[in-house]
Amino acid sequence: MNSTDHERLKEKILEYIRMNLKESRLQHTYRVAETAVAMARREGADVRKAEIAALLHDCARNLPPEKLNSLVEELGLPDRYRDNVNLSHSKVGAAFAGRLFNIDDREILDAISYHTTGRCRMTTLEKIVFLADAIEPGRDYPGVEAIRDAAEESLDRGCLKSLEGTIEFLKAADKFIDNDTIEAFNDIKEKIG
Ligand code: FE
Ligand code: FE
Repeated sequence: MNSTDHERLKEKILEYIRMNLKESRLQHTYRVAETAVAMARREGADVRKAEIAALLHDCARNLPPEKLNSLVEELGLPDRYRDNVNLSHSKVGAAFAGRLFNIDDREILDAISYHTTGRCRMTTLEKIVFLADAIEPGRDYPGVEAIRDAAEESLDRGCLKSLEGTIEFLKAADKFIDNDTIEAFNDIKEKIG
């Protein structure tokens, strides 16, 4: 993506999210994008891709439930995605963003797709969006400071800490833990111990 294409795409995305995201979600999205850009610079990753993926990561979050459900069906997602915006908005968002903005870049679409759960063998871009979403400066939940500290050390440390927190949280709440989340945790754990 050259700089002109990037600016044009970014303008279109900003216009869409300003119209379609609730104010708090929009502000969160801006902060995720800033955080992701900073991380991409530090990691020597593709800064433009990181910004685009971050701006789009929650693009399906405020779709009407019926629209989300019909996209879940259309995309052939598992039944547990129905009426579950927490789980569906990332997968639906990737497909939706791809269509709406003519994006076929696999790396960008995967970073959107796995921003909630993570997965085994995450790419650098996936880790950046996942982590930026978890620790953008507006985030305030038990354990976020420890994740920020770990993220200072490395993307892997940050992701691992975040995945660990998510798994513990879901376990304590007796909730379903997505396989991708467990695999992401084990994969990074095995790598960095
Ligand atoms: Fe999200
Ligand atoms: Fe988000």
